[in-house]
Amino acid sequence: MSDVRDVIIIGGGPAGYTAALYAARANLRPLVIEGFQWGGQLMITSDVENYPGYVEGVLGPEMMQQFRAQAERFGAEYVTDDVTRVDFSERPLRVFVGDDEYRSETVIVATGASARQLGLESESALHGRGVTYCAVCDAAFYRDKEVVVVGGGDSAMEEAIFTTKFASRVTIVHRRSDFRASRIMVDRAEANERIEFLTPYTVEEVLGVSEGRMTGLRLRNLDSGETSELRADGLFVAIGHDPTTGLFLDQLDHDAGGYLITKPGSTASNVSGVFVAGDVQDHVYRQAVTAAGSGCMAALDAERFLAAREGHEMSAATAPRAEAVAPEAA
Ligand code: NAP
Repeated sequence: MSDVRDVIIIGGGPAGYTAALYAARANLRPLVIEGFQWGGQLMITSDVENYPGYVEGVLGPEMMQQFRAQAERFGAEYVTDDVTRVDFSERPLRVFVGDDEYRSETVIVATGASARQLGLESESALHGRGVTYCAVCDAAFYRDKEVVVVGGGDSAMEEAIFTTKFASRVTIVHRRSDFRASRIMVDRAEANERIEFLTPYTVEEVLGVSEGRMTGLRLRNLDSGETSELRADGLFVAIGHDPTTGLFLDQLDHDAGGYLITKPGSTASNVSGVFVAGDVQDHVYRQAVTAAGSGCMAALDAERFLAAREGHEMSAATAPRAEAVAPEAA
């Protein structure tokens, strides 16, 4: 059995690696259980142009490599595997990877979110052979092809507009005639002559399983109930994301969508010593830079928690400043 760690970080994306960097520099010897497929959503992103400091932009996988190496430089250790179970019911907190048990005084959950799927058998069968969840990664493969984007949010609009750089026709299929996307994004999509809209339709089947490559879609009109077929070379699914929280739902507070809930102004969860950072608790901002920022906050919160337990809270980086204490409370 392993010794008791100060900090275990679950997740290897911007939040997890930033938490690792801060924890390592605070001499907390963090163990990062980064997942078998570490790097998170940035591993399926090409150019990142909105992360401050990269003037010319950076490739998502390269940026994650650098985040990881930077934390390692200060002593972060990695387990490149998936956590299979956690037990936060008693101290020390326990984290399992198969039969291996790791124990820690604090845990930072930074498991991120992943693209939602339609849930069709034909969709899984043709994943990578026409069906994709990342237009930015794959649109260039669809030069002069016909593509469908499913969804009615900002992602769907953005991906459809982006894909018109390559595809000859992009059809946005959405299950309602109203859009969740912001007006400006819908206006831009409507103004693009390569984009057509089909509403209110759902995708019933992705066609082409027997051909080994997607050839089209069977759609259902939700007003009339009628089905029809649409020829298409690609299906870009853009229907939102789900937080990776299955392991925690019975132990950590979460909202109806499964996103973990933190105490206001903090990364603390409902379990003492468990902190939460990144997209797993954020369905609003969801940016690499905001995930990294909350990873930093989680590490500082964990450091202060540990210092308080050892009786020297005022030595933590986030110790309360005397000048910030209201006179009546002083
Ligand atoms: P979203 O806003 O949750 O929209 C998801 C869309 O997919 C909705 O239109 C939803 O339909 C549809 N949908 C969900 N499940 C479906 C299913 N099983 N079958 C068919 N359709 C389904 O997600 P998002 O577009 O990824 O955006 C997430 C957040 O990121 C938002 O806050 C958004 O503003 C932000 N974002 C911003 C930008 C930008 O400003 N440039 C770009 C991308 C994302 P209903 O509407 O009927 O529920």
